[in-house]
Amino acid sequence: MPELPEVENIRIGLEKYLEGHSIKRIKVLNRRIFQGDEKKLIDTKFESAERFGKMIAINFNNGFSLLTHVKLTGQFIYRGPNLPKPPKLSRKVVGGLGGKHTHVIFHLSQGGVLYYNDIRKFGWIKLVETKKIKNESVSKLGPEPLKDLTLNLFTKIISSSKRPVKAVLMDQSKISGVGNIYANDALWLSQIVPTRPSQSLSGEEIKTLYKAIKKVLRKGLKQGGASELAFVTPDGAEGKYQDHTLVYGREGELCIRCKKAKIKKIFLSGRGTYFCPNCQHD
Ligand SMILES: [Zn+2]
Repeated sequence: MPELPEVENIRIGLEKYLEGHSIKRIKVLNRRIFQGDEKKLIDTKFESAERFGKMIAINFNNGFSLLTHVKLTGQFIYRGPNLPKPPKLSRKVVGGLGGKHTHVIFHLSQGGVLYYNDIRKFGWIKLVETKKIKNESVSKLGPEPLKDLTLNLFTKIISSSKRPVKAVLMDQSKISGVGNIYANDALWLSQIVPTRPSQSLSGEEIKTLYKAIKKVLRKGLKQGGASELAFVTPDGAEGKYQDHTLVYGREGELCIRCKKAKIKKIFLSGRGTYFCPNCQHD
């Protein structure tokens, strides 16, 4: 599932490509994915794209926004004057643009088009009043590692739970934006076994983990995110973090740090969990 770096890359792309465009027409092909009266957005101008955890609000100049969550396989892809030389469309855009997995088509001014594709169809786009966005599930999100999560706050969160530390990192109501890939990599970097009860971490380990989370998220951001299932950036290209993961997805490979053990995979809270049995401590 796209995590903070992936969703932030979508936000950056939307802000870049929607700049200067207004909405001419919205073709809704799936009413479960697009919720609300799209006519309210006709002839409104794009203002900004904001991210709240893994959700994005696309704001327009009439007080309305499109709040969206791409979930597992949602893709926003732009074609038009703000991207004169688009890259080759990723093969992860199954069926192409305007194909069988395209559920919403935004026709923009100056001939621009924004497509929403989604193979699994768990994603959604909801028309909401901009001022009401904080009331949507956005208000239930915890602080973000690259924004407002201080070491103090992080220490409180980690030391007040008996659950496995990896589950706490991925709990969006505690900390927002960290999902499976980056939780695995941050724990490997901190040499902490993912199953450790959160409150068993020492002050030193919490500090190391705090820094590691920021580090892997920044690296993911820089690499354009990880294109695992279906993630593509709004230019239609793939991210590159999947080629640079530290431990995630590397079951059976030799640990790149200690070079003594092979990476193990277990399931924790139903999610694939990777660690080195030699250099990550219980
Ligand atoms: Zn190791």
